[in-house]
Amino acid sequence: MSQDNLIKLECTDCKHVNYHSYKNKKTIKGRLELVKFCFAQCKKHILHKETK
Ligand SMILES: [Zn+2]
Repeated sequence: MSQDNLIKLECTDCKHVNYHSYKNKKTIKGRLELVKFCFAQCKKHILHKETK
C-alpha cells in the first residue's frame, strides 16, 4: 500500500488528530468526513475531517 493513501482525521472542534486512515483515491473523491469519538479532548462524537 502506498504512503500516498495515508490520511489523518482531525477533530473539527479541538483540531486534534485522533485517527489515521487509508483512502483509495480512485474510489473516494474530495475530503473524507466521518463522525468519530474524540478521545483527546472533547470526549464525545465529533465530525472529523481529512487533513494532510
Ligand atoms: Zn475534539
